[in-house]
Amino acid sequence: MIAAATSPLALGVPFLAEALQKLGLNIEYLSRPEVRIILGLLVFCLGLIFLVYSLVCSFNVQIEKQKDNIKLKFGIYWDKDNNPLCPSCKLPVSYGKYAIGGTGYRCFSCTKTFPLTDDVGNRLKPEQAIQNL
Ligand SMILES: [Zn+2]
Repeated sequence: MIAAATSPLALGVPFLAEALQKLGLNIEYLSRPEVRIILGLLVFCLGLIFLVYSLVCSFNVQIEKQKDNIKLKFGIYWDKDNNPLCPSCKLPVSYGKYAIGGTGYRCFSCTKTFPLTDDVGNRLKPEQAIQNL
């Protein structure tokens, strides 16, 4: 009891120290430097995990907002800056001639190639499509 009252932790929160001792928990080891360093690192890591989680969540919200501001035309989604997006997963696609799927917009996430066609089914070039968006 006397030892607990003189430890820095017990000086800060004596009622808590007494309560823990009544429960049979010895909190003396908490005032040892190595334990304090470990506890400090633990708190720091938890803070870091929370920070990273918050950043990932806000990044996902931004992606969701971008996905809302798109339109479907010529078989491809287009964002507000006329960038082509996959009609399936809405990630950016790149135009080219591919061994599998032929000429069109390729989504490397879905591993599919989407041809650029007008309403009747005629093939279009990206420049023609962007002009008519
Ligand atoms: Zn996709």
